[in-house]
Amino acid sequence: MSTALDLALLRVSEPEVRQLLQACQEVKKRAYSVYSNFRVGAALITERDRHIITGCNVENASYGLTVCAERAAICQAVSRGYREFSCIAVTSDVQGVYCTPCGACRQFIAEFSPEGYVLLVQPGLSEDEYLKGKGAQIVAVSSLLPSGFTPADLHLPKHKEQDVTETIQL
Ligand SMILES: [Zn+2]
Repeated sequence: MSTALDLALLRVSEPEVRQLLQACQEVKKRAYSVYSNFRVGAALITERDRHIITGCNVENASYGLTVCAERAAICQAVSRGYREFSCIAVTSDVQGVYCTPCGACRQFIAEFSPEGYVLLVQPGLSEDEYLKGKGAQIVAVSSLLPSGFTPADLHLPKHKEQDVTETIQL
């Protein structure tokens, strides 16, 4: 059974969530996924000014350099001066199951939105169906990345120890 999307949890209005649903699917069409053929689209809405900012995955012949859609969207948001967003919607071409952000993206989302929510979107349904919770699911960032490393961890008290400065002879 699907239950209607909790827009209060996502901190978006109905017109805004409709925009997010459209935007993540639209930007997916621009994915540069020539190696994996796995297209992903992400769309976030900024807390201030309510801008929709999108990203798609961009792969590379040097596979490890691939940038995911979620990180592409967040980098663009930060570059445009927005560090707080209400929620991020993510979609792929996978049907019937929810495709969740990879580990790196979970860490990246948590950096800016540790208390936030991700809207997972399956392809091919109507906006009204999504709003009813069919093919769309809300998941807490804290449940995607439990016990994650956060900016606050950098300020925890540390055990003091000397650095090793000897050089290794080759
Ligand atoms: Zn990722």
